[in-house]
Amino acid sequence: MTEPVIELSGVHRQFVDGPAALRDVSLTVQPGEAVAILGPSGSGKSTMLNMIAGLDRPDSGTVTVAGVRVDKLGEAGAAKYRRNKIGMIFQFFNLLDDLTVLDNILLPAEMMGVGRGEARKRANSLLETLGIAKHARAYPGRLSGGERQRVAVARALMNRPPLLLADEPTGALDSASGEEVKGLLRELHADGQTIVVVTHDESLAASFATRIVRFRDGQIASDTRVQNGSPEPVVAR
Ligand code: ADP
Ligand code: MG
Repeated sequence: MTEPVIELSGVHRQFVDGPAALRDVSLTVQPGEAVAILGPSGSGKSTMLNMIAGLDRPDSGTVTVAGVRVDKLGEAGAAKYRRNKIGMIFQFFNLLDDLTVLDNILLPAEMMGVGRGEARKRANSLLETLGIAKHARAYPGRLSGGERQRVAVARALMNRPPLLLADEPTGALDSASGEEVKGLLRELHADGQTIVVVTHDESLAASFATRIVRFRDGQIASDTRVQNGSPEPVVAR
């Protein structure tokens, strides 16, 4: 069997006050899966995504992504891990507004030390694929929300990460732009990209996911694979 892209085992996270944000969460994601993490606000979705992204650490349990023990990384290690292994997209795009679209997309490759020529080739191909080539020299502030999110997706994919993560990627978009992002996630999945999206939006989940994980009170309440339109429970392995 192939190595899972994500393996969380017994992950617990307690912030200073209140009930635990994550309670003994275990989750395995295989290459090529398109997973939606659904659940009400405050149920622990973003906390789990942050664990996977190496932005936070569990109090106990282990987090392994693409063969890396993420829970053991220090700050520098986590930064390198994020550059090499994951692409992230956010509700509010997190683009650098004083860089052009092209320079935003080139940034991850520069940080990884990829040669300028090779990086430009990759960036141009992403700009084409994502339908934003004509905006390459524009600044993000001039683009619509949907276009900005496409730039964020291009940036996230620049270093060909084994894992694409998104936290409420349609949360700040009008419905037409939201539909664009949904279509994009479907295409990326069809291309074999492993995707994990955190959202409270059922229609986003239904649009691209092959697997739906529901959170409640810091725990996984249900986990189903969607096959030929009919849901099947995921058997733990
Ligand atoms: P969701 O993404 O599902 O809306 P979160 O993972 O953001 O939920 O939050 C889960 C719980 O953890 C909430 O009760 C939230 O208030 C708490 N929480 C999240 N981040 C922090 C933090 N940095 N400090 C303290 N409490 C936090
Ligand atoms: Mg959240």
